Amino acid sequence: MNSRIWPSWSLTILIIAIICISSSNARPFNSRSISLDERYGINNELSSCLTNKKVDFVDALRNNSHIYFEASQGDNMRFHWHPVAIIFPANTQQVSDAVNCASKSGNIQTVARSGGHAFTGYSSGGQDGAMIVDFRKMNKIQPDSKNALVHIEPAARLGDVAKDLWADNQMAMPHGTCPTVGVGGHSLCGGVGPTSRFWGMATDNIVEVEIVLADGSIVHVSQHENPDLFWAVRGAGVYYGLVTKFTFSTYKVNHPTTFMRYKWSESIKTPDDAVKLMHAIQDFGKHPDLPSSIGFHVQVSPTESAGASEGMITLQLRGMYLGSKDAYLDIVGPKLFEALEAVGLPIKGDSFNEDEMSYLDLMKEWDDFGSPTDKLDTQLERKRRNNFVARTSLGMSQKGFSDEGFRTILNEVWQRQVDEKKGSFKAHSTTDQDFWIWNIYFELFGGVHNRMRDAEILAKSSFSHRDALWLMQSSVGGFEKKSLVHEAYAMVHKIDSAIHKALQDDNLEKMGYSCYADPTLQDWKHLYYGKSVDKMTDLKRKYDPKNLFRNPQSLIETPRELVSGLKQWILSPHPLP
Ligand SMILES: Cc1cc2nc3c(=O)[nH]c(=O)nc-3n(C[C@H](O)[C@H](O)[C@H](O)COP(=O)(O)OP(=O)(O)OC[C@H]3O[C@@H](n4cnc5c(N)ncnc54)[C@H](O)[C@@H]3O)c2cc1C
Repeated sequence: MNSRIWPSWSLTILIIAIICISSSNARPFNSRSISLDERYGINNELSSCLTNKKVDFVDALRNNSHIYFEASQGDNMRFHWHPVAIIFPANTQQVSDAVNCASKSGNIQTVARSGGHAFTGYSSGGQDGAMIVDFRKMNKIQPDSKNALVHIEPAARLGDVAKDLWADNQMAMPHGTCPTVGVGGHSLCGGVGPTSRFWGMATDNIVEVEIVLADGSIVHVSQHENPDLFWAVRGAGVYYGLVTKFTFSTYKVNHPTTFMRYKWSESIKTPDDAVKLMHAIQDFGKHPDLPSSIGFHVQVSPTESAGASEGMITLQLRGMYLGSKDAYLDIVGPKLFEALEAVGLPIKGDSFNEDEMSYLDLMKEWDDFGSPTDKLDTQLERKRRNNFVARTSLGMSQKGFSDEGFRTILNEVWQRQVDEKKGSFKAHSTTDQDFWIWNIYFELFGGVHNRMRDAEILAKSSFSHRDALWLMQSSVGGFEKKSLVHEAYAMVHKIDSAIHKALQDDNLEKMGYSCYADPTLQDWKHLYYGKSVDKMTDLKRKYDPKNLFRNPQSLIETPRELVSGLKQWILSPHPLP
């Protein structure tokens, strides 16, 4: 008797162990397990449905590896996934047909790709087995300067938006500064740029969208039509459907603007000099009379040519003013230069630019990716992918850092440079490995006068973390052909830890920014969305109860009845930590 019980108990224990192991690895986005075929990029039911609907697509079975790779890969080469299909709809009806196909073929994870610049590869699924809706054929921009509006399809790139708006009566809208970022992803998660303090983020300027929901319906969303979705797409739009058209507010800029850049390198002789500089710049950002028409960031990076004991780091303030140079100098003189003079630092850095120019030329100045002759050339720039790791923090409240807080951050990078110069280690570039550069960006997100905090905008947006002075990002990156040296990961982690400590010591709450998604965050819902999470989750259950539109950071779990097995395939390549 016992001998018969023992084997059956051991089998039960084994089964429980397998269940526990597989479910402990399970995360919401994985909860519909991926079949072996899907693992290899094949789902025959989906393929025949897409073929019947005449939707153009690429998959691993029909296409050669080069085409399949190119169609699967987003901008950041650190992440690569194997989708079951990459579809290229030409119009909204085809998007709807494809959504119905994915839904009927086993609730296949469906993700949009507009510009492909997701930090984490989420527009390639963030795991194997997704259907990617690549909007590359839907990239029209139709400015309507008479009504101060622009109608844009999701795959239009920011650089093209800036050029086309300018060509139509010198109009503009707020957005980030990388010309090849897509309007789709950018404006659904935020979209912060140098003009955001004046005009708001891109997402704040959404007037209307057309969206394909999980049941395939095509819905118009505005303040008056489906206002709950209007609130949701303005800040957290990636969860509710595939946005096929946007209408944004636009603004006239038929007046001169001013570009400024001040770079302190050799004049920063000690970490304390850098702290004094950051202190003065922070006071400038917090000044009660600083107009919202000034936007800037401070970039901290290594000083390449420094000797072994000084000038380790460079601080560069880069900014813009939506007005003339004379008016700008009247503002900056008493609010920044006098403070710098008082602490004995060169008021305009060791080198500087203060140039009056048109708004379009200003946008070109902010383009870090094009060479001087092809600024805002999005066709050319998008041919080169990136390869980077980044961490982001929003430091809540308008008070900013104490000197001790700045010291914690700046000492960290200063000491690293000292160690490198002493030869303790070598951050190297070889033929196949690259340590491109580390950077910390302090972007002025707050300030007293700031459209991003207007009550009217806040009430109509799921982007809740508005009360931050600095949006900070530490990153290490290179271009696609080279892989990052492993030390790069440790470097970003160390800088981010120093920022975390400084925030903690200064009693500044740390939040995140979903446009700079970070797959390592545990508490990402709260960090990205704060008090909006509950309402967002209710809306997700209402509009996408089967969690068709999901990624590794999903608001809800896929329902149990759609879980087809216990096995979790080991997905490769996993993103590095
Ligand atoms: C080099 C670089 C510079 C950047 N600079 C800035 C900056 O200055 N300011 C700033 O705020 N951000 C910046 N970002 C972040 C950028 O805003 C986000 O990564 C944004 O999500 C990218 O949009 P995309 O359409 O290019 O990306 P995609 O990879 O296509 O999409 C990103 C996410 O949005 C979803 N999505 C895309 N299109 C749609 C759609 N039509 N409907 C529903 N969901 C959709 C995707 O599924 C994915 O989850 C930068 C990113 C990079 C890589």
